[in-house]
Order: sequence, then structure tokens, then C-alpha cells
Amino acid sequence: MTYHWSLVCSASDEKHDASGLPTVSSLGEPWLVAYDTKPHPDTKALLPSRPWNMWRYREWMPLAPDEKPVTLGEGCTPLLRAPSLERGTGVATVWIKDEGQNPCGSFKARGLSAAITRATHAGAKSFVIPTAGNAGVALAAYGQRAGAEVRVYAPRSTPPRIVEQIELFGADLHLLDGHIGDCGKAAREHAVASGAFDMSTLREPYRIEGKKTMGIEIAEQLGWSLPDCIIYPTGGGTGLIGMWKAFNELREAGWVEGKLPRLYSVQSTGCAPVVKAFEAGALATEPWPDPETIAYGLRVPGPLGGKIMLRYLKECGGKALAVSDEELQAAADRIGVREGIDMCPEGGAAVVALEKLVLEGSIESTDSVVVFNTGAGWLYR
Ligand SMILES: *Cc1c(COP(=O)(O)O)cnc(C)c1O
Repeated sequence: MTYHWSLVCSASDEKHDASGLPTVSSLGEPWLVAYDTKPHPDTKALLPSRPWNMWRYREWMPLAPDEKPVTLGEGCTPLLRAPSLERGTGVATVWIKDEGQNPCGSFKARGLSAAITRATHAGAKSFVIPTAGNAGVALAAYGQRAGAEVRVYAPRSTPPRIVEQIELFGADLHLLDGHIGDCGKAAREHAVASGAFDMSTLREPYRIEGKKTMGIEIAEQLGWSLPDCIIYPTGGGTGLIGMWKAFNELREAGWVEGKLPRLYSVQSTGCAPVVKAFEAGALATEPWPDPETIAYGLRVPGPLGGKIMLRYLKECGGKALAVSDEELQAAADRIGVREGIDMCPEGGAAVVALEKLVLEGSIESTDSVVVFNTGAGWLYR
């Protein structure tokens, strides 16, 4: 099999070919996918005739020409104008990218569709994941779709609806005391003991490529142009890393021109390792003690992608900021009433961040802004 990509260590020049089941580099750092060719801008003309899911960008994806993806129709989510946010902030153009409309109710579908596709092509038949919730639902569903076995480790505090969904999709669910870091230890032990493939965030290279499609999709939805700012709730960081990778790849291939968006990473004040490191000018995050937040997707005390996120946030001219649980839940509820969009608490955090960034002058009224709702609110209620 020949592949049109290889892997490059995110922290060194080390390279790896695309075959097999790669995990992390010899430094223990995440791999990034590097493509041999840049898709020609004429390829845009092929898009309308393709199936309506994220694999329509297949030239940008880790998929050989004769391979079929494991798909549930992920991606192609709406980009919705948000008049109440435009009125409230004075910013002329605000969109909400509603990732809650993905299969399994969150953007985790994109990452796991890509990761399961590669891993099953490489022969994996059994998977394990530590999760704050949504990644477990998505792995359970995509695992079934691929005919594989799935084990999920989640904190006992995981919302009941998410637990029901993981069970609905037939995964072997283990609820543990503690947070996602504790679940990660259990998942790694199980992987070593059983040979199951570990789907933890950034411990395999392909979830980023799935999340990357959010960036390509925004560009297509805006007629192959990009917004000035993107506000993104950050836990493990795959979305932030994936989108910045997408924008750079699109520009290098000549699909978009001009300045790339400033990315703003938002966390909860109860677990804000990226914000703390960014504000200190540090190159790496430090583990956050006692992470506590109702925005479960943001409860990641020691993200493996910390160094990459900090580098990218600096490169794009954005920043990281934290908001409180009270603020983010109130914002999610407000958007439900004012916009008819069922926001998850993490999406609420992005709304509060928009308001704060406008007040402090980081975002101006002439900027165009995309706010991410990363999941459906009903999963948490
Ligand atoms: C996982 C998750 C996040 C954090 O995503 P990353 O891209 O890994 O930072 C945010 N919101 C929701 C709803 C999630 O499930």
C-alpha cells in the first residue's frame, strides 16, 4: 500500500511512515500528519458531487484512494448567524458553528471517524479510551460501525445521558472515581494487558485530521475565505491544533488567501492549564491540581498537546482565557432561548469569551467571528 502522507514529530525532526498503528514519537510527543502533495484548487469543483460528510475533503485526509472511511455522516454542520450575539456585543458578524448536530451529539465524531478508519485499516479490532464523556460515546458508536470491541473509562461524575449513550452503543463502560487523567492511566494499563488500541487524545495521529475538517468546512461555508477570529473551548486541544493545521494547509495550497484567523482558546476557571501557561509565557502546560468544572470536555488537567497549543496560539496572534462555570452555563441557557440552539456548557464558555474579548478590545466590532458550540446541550441536562 502506498500512502500520500507520513508522520512528523510535533517536537523534533523525527519521521515515521504511514503504515501500521503509530502512537507517539520516541520523545513521547504527538505525531502530526504531513502530506506529500497539496490538493490543487481545481479540486474544489469535485466537492458538490461528493457524499455529505467530512470525507468529501478526502484529498486533505489520511485515506488512500481505494479505501473507504468508517462513517456515520459526521461533519457538514451548520454555520449559523447569531443575531443576539451581534446585538449584544456590537460585533457586526458572529456565527455559531453548531457541532452539536454531529452524530453522537458532538464534534468528537469527526476525530473518531478518522482515527477508527485508520486503525481498522491497519487491523485493530479492539479499542480503549479514557473520556470525559463525549469521546466515549463517539468511540462506542464508531467502534460498532467498524465491528470492533470498545472499552470506555469515564469519571463517575459523567452526566447520566452520556452514560446511557455509551451503553446504547454497546461499549464495555467502566466508571471510575477521579478525572480523565485517572481514566487515562486505567486505559493505558488495559491497553498493555489486552492489546486493545489506545484512542486517547493525541496518543494516535489521526483524531487531529478529523478535527481539521472543521477548519476546511468553515472556509468552504464562507466561500473559501476565513473569519477574523475563532473562539474555541479547549480541553485536549485536538480542535485547536486541527484547525490551525487546516488553515495553514489551505493557504499553502492556494485555496485561501490573506491573513489567517486569530484563535482564542477558552477554558473554565476550574481547570485552565493552557490559560495559566499562556499568561506566564511558558512553552508547556503544567498539570492542573483538582480540576473541577461542569464543562466536562474542558476538564483535562494535563493535555498532551499543551506545547503544540501554546505554540499555535502564539503564531496565530490569539490568546487563552478562562471563564467561570456560572458564566458559561448562563450563556449556554441564554443562547437556547435567544437563538434556538441547544448549547453545551463548553459552547457557553465560548460565548462568554466573545463578550469578554470584545469588552477588553481584543475583538473589534468590524471583526467577523466564529464561536464554536462543540456539542449538544441535551447530553448534559
Ligand atoms: C472534548 C470536548 C471539548 C474539548 O475538545 P478538544 O478539541 O479536545 O480541546 C470541548 N467541548 C466538548 C463538548 C467536548 O466534548
